[in-house]
Amino acid sequence: MNKQAIIVGAGPCGLSAAIELENVGITCTIIERGNIVDAIYRYPTHQTFFSSANLLEIGDVPFICKELKPRRQDALVYYREVVTRKGLDVKPFETVERVEKSDGKFLVTSRHERHGVSVREADYVILATGYYGRPRKLDVPGEELPHVSHYFEEAHPYYRQHVTVIGGKNSAVDAAIELEKAGAYVTVLYRGSEYSPSVKPWVLPTFDSLVRHEKVRMEFNATIERIDLDEVVYRQNGEEKRVHTDHVLAMTGYQPDHNLFAEAGIEIDEDTGVPSFDEETYETNVENLFIAGVVAAGNDANKIFIENGRFHGRAIAQALTDRVRI
Ligand SMILES: Cc1cc2nc3c(=O)[nH]c(=O)nc-3n(C[C@H](O)[C@H](O)[C@H](O)COP(=O)(O)OP(=O)(O)OC[C@H]3O[C@@H](n4cnc5c(N)ncnc54)[C@H](O)[C@@H]3O)c2cc1C
Repeated sequence: MNKQAIIVGAGPCGLSAAIELENVGITCTIIERGNIVDAIYRYPTHQTFFSSANLLEIGDVPFICKELKPRRQDALVYYREVVTRKGLDVKPFETVERVEKSDGKFLVTSRHERHGVSVREADYVILATGYYGRPRKLDVPGEELPHVSHYFEEAHPYYRQHVTVIGGKNSAVDAAIELEKAGAYVTVLYRGSEYSPSVKPWVLPTFDSLVRHEKVRMEFNATIERIDLDEVVYRQNGEEKRVHTDHVLAMTGYQPDHNLFAEAGIEIDEDTGVPSFDEETYETNVENLFIAGVVAAGNDANKIFIENGRFHGRAIAQALTDRVRI
């Protein structure tokens, strides 16, 4: 009988896994909390990918794009086209709450905001839940205030506003550049003592020039103590300092939510956040339960992105076909 798989998460890597499994005759249902490629949808609207279009392709569908590096909107169009063309079965706006094993099969419980709970059965489950839905918190008083956000959409609302950007990696630097362009008064508070080596080398000179020309205020060695309604209070070299602020963008990264993994019986390394899995097959310590995409990197999301995570599904499909042959 035809085997069934459920893929949790319709990011680029979950979609790619579904295509690869369908290619070897396994029927896939993809359950997605938002709609397809929700993480890309939530990128800043001006975002240009650092990867060229061909490195974002899945399912051998060409990603034709006017520029070498696509923009967010190009990618949204591309992945919609892939899902349509491949006829993938996506269940949008359903959050998977539980994956459990019963009599050798999996029961996957999900909840749709309006339609309530569904339970589906599957032979295989692939968790491709990414990390963008869960910001890495500062854990300081005031973080939950309404003028504090962990996502930057676009710069326009910040015109002539004092904005404190917290963080010093790509998303913080990108946001600061866009904000300055849109006429915001920008201060960047970063706990590092120098620019992070992960900042894209073609972006850093632009940012550094803004700092040197005092268009952006950059404070290194700055540890946030608390956020008040009009100020951010931070400590720098043992001294308490304050910066006036109308808005705070805490660009401190994101981290995977492991609740689903742990409840399903997947062991997680406490230090690295890396789930226990076979690096060739992506099968976890629970038989027939796989992972795909950036979740395989644990807390260090910079190791896996679309460029390499899109191949995980092929490895899983290969492992499953080898198993049938044996
Ligand atoms: C600003 C920015 C720019 C980037 N640029 C690039 C680039 O140029 N090149 C590159 O290769 N990478 C880039 N990345 C990284 C890339 O976006 C991620 O590596 C990629 O999205 C990971 O794909 P994924 O399928 O593993 O996870 P995601 O894309 O995060 O997809 C996971 C999906 O799972 C869903 N989900 C989570 N939990 C549940 C649940 N319980 N139930 C149902 N659904 C769930 C989420 O809604 C999401 O849609 C960039 C990231 C950012 C933030």
